[in-house]
Amino acid sequence: LTGRPDSPDGKTIIPLSAFGVVVMSIGFMVDPSKAVVWRGPMLQGALQQMLGQVQWGDLDVLIVDLPPGTGDVQLTLCQKAELSGAIIVSTPQDVSLIDAKKAIDMLNGLKVPVLGLVENMSNYICPKCGYEAEIFGHGGVSAEASKMGLPFWGEIPLDLEIRLSGDTGKPIAAGDNSISEPYARIAQKLIDSVISN
Ligand SMILES: [Zn+2]
Repeated sequence: LTGRPDSPDGKTIIPLSAFGVVVMSIGFMVDPSKAVVWRGPMLQGALQQMLGQVQWGDLDVLIVDLPPGTGDVQLTLCQKAELSGAIIVSTPQDVSLIDAKKAIDMLNGLKVPVLGLVENMSNYICPKCGYEAEIFGHGGVSAEASKMGLPFWGEIPLDLEIRLSGDTGKPIAAGDNSISEPYARIAQKLIDSVISN
């Protein structure tokens, strides 16, 4: 998905869309060759634009993808928006889990429910010989979830097909094969916990 979102009146922003998913990203608004070096107030302004000025239309669910951390943006989002909850995505390694645990601690403090945990880059299966390599470890997120009494939603493998299909613009989740399956299962958990409630 590339391009620049339209703003016919200079105030509202028309988001881009693909595969029935409406998408808005700071990446669409800035020079792709420049790093986004923004301080807190600028990030908060961008967040407010995203929530208030983008013509989202009639959505089933709005997912805000944030980098790991407990900074200004995460805090502002939790305080200013009426959130159904948070989904924690982490690799199985300790270094990644430490960030995840800090985020969960912040969410608890702000009374934002943690809906579920997802283990990303969970394992790697060699396409040539089928050997399963646990490059970042395996099972760390599931173990942490049960320790904290939180729902574990599933594992996303580290797979070349995920990157290749993403690069061609057709996400693996939109397909119908063994690698798209975990995405579908996780999406169903989201539907069960947010939309059906
Ligand atoms: Zn191999």
